[in-house]
Amino acid sequence: MRSRYSAFCLRNPDYLLATLQKDIRAKETRKALLKSFAGTQWRQLKVIRCQRGLLGDKAGEVEFAAFFTQDDEGGQLHERSRFVFEDERWFYVDGDILPPISLSRNEPCWCGSGRKLKKCHLA
Ligand SMILES: [Zn+2]
Repeated sequence: MRSRYSAFCLRNPDYLLATLQKDIRAKETRKALLKSFAGTQWRQLKVIRCQRGLLGDKAGEVEFAAFFTQDDEGGQLHERSRFVFEDERWFYVDGDILPPISLSRNEPCWCGSGRKLKKCHLA
């Protein structure tokens, strides 16, 4: 999951396509991924919860919030993603989009500045 986040940050469509479960991969295109990169800067990943996804498991779920800016506006993707283990590797299947989370004042700011929220982007 973290590696897919990194690939989004680095705008690496080939890796993102390669880690999609094969039935899903057929529906995604490199062009659509490249389009989705335009104007989006990923700032920070917060992994909230992992379920299963350990050695010997065939499926796993990861809930995360990924923070981004787009055209200078802050945004957040809060998702519960499903992965399957096939051919000795994890593949992304799909995910549920969840309502945005709130960070507490003492957590690292979503923008990736390294400062606490209360000393950075607390509105
Ligand atoms: Zn900030």
